[in-house]
Amino acid sequence: MLDQIRLDHIGNIRPFLTRHRRFQTPQHIQTHPIWKRGFQAAVYFYHTKLYDLRARRNADLAQPRLRLLAQFKRIEIIWRIGSMNHQITLHFYGDLNPFLVPKRRDRDFDLTIDAGATVKDTIESVGVPHVEIGYILVNGDSRPFDYMLQAGDHVSVYPPFYDFTLNHHLSVYPANPPLAFVLDVHLGRLAAYLRMLGFDTHYSNFADDDYLAQVSADENRILLSRDIGLLKRKIVTYGYFVRATDPEQQLIEVIRRYNFWDDIRMFSRCTLCNGLVGQVESSTIADLVPPDTLQFYDTFYQCSNCQKVYWRGSHHQRIDQLVASLMAARHE
Ligand SMILES: [Zn+2]
Repeated sequence: MLDQIRLDHIGNIRPFLTRHRRFQTPQHIQTHPIWKRGFQAAVYFYHTKLYDLRARRNADLAQPRLRLLAQFKRIEIIWRIGSMNHQITLHFYGDLNPFLVPKRRDRDFDLTIDAGATVKDTIESVGVPHVEIGYILVNGDSRPFDYMLQAGDHVSVYPPFYDFTLNHHLSVYPANPPLAFVLDVHLGRLAAYLRMLGFDTHYSNFADDDYLAQVSADENRILLSRDIGLLKRKIVTYGYFVRATDPEQQLIEVIRRYNFWDDIRMFSRCTLCNGLVGQVESSTIADLVPPDTLQFYDTFYQCSNCQKVYWRGSHHQRIDQLVASLMAARHE
């Protein structure tokens, strides 16, 4: 349960630290938050060395709950309290249910959790990656991911809703998803389709989980995957578990999820390399296409990155079919 936290979250327990440690860089400080009888306590570790709280007791301890904490004679007592359990009730809605075991779908179910568990960790522990969550209501009020669950809490969890913006400020899902993707290795066909529709799509056959999560975080891209473990990673802000297995259905699913219908720009990107594609004079690409192609077609496009040439005839029917099913899906 030990977790690295930022120093500014723990201002009210700074007095426990010696002067030179009060303003250490955040990553050097670890806490163990404990909720019990309405007060929050924290045990401090510094490079795995336990701090003696009694030694730190001083005039700064004005708040009653801190004074109470300082009264504990032995750290083991705090550990025991920290490992006490809470009973809560959860209920998941909409397309979050497939992540759950069947007996927990579409109904209230009870769960025993460690005291001090956040709602985010608890939701992920039953199988739902945080990137799939839109709204969290605890006893009817919206709460953020870092809300610490209390005994008896009733938690309702909803997916994000992109097709309407009502109460978006209550959402735990960040607004304005970026118009850019990074795809897991098993989604090659979907990557080509997204590029065909003009979406900036990072894809590599050789990407591992670390790389995918990092690219998603560093380049602000929506991570698409069918690997739930990957989508639970903390650094991934925008992510989506692709439900369908058929690439065309996957494409429709993703566009619908993010409501990107109006952002489609057919033939503006290279399906091979993600480079930008623009129209070119047929004379400039004469050496790059079969001779009879020049005879039958007069409009050509070329990738500015890998120089691949596209023309209307190349995958004509399949593309028309894809566009038709996209338009049908939009108006379903
Ligand atoms: Zn290209």
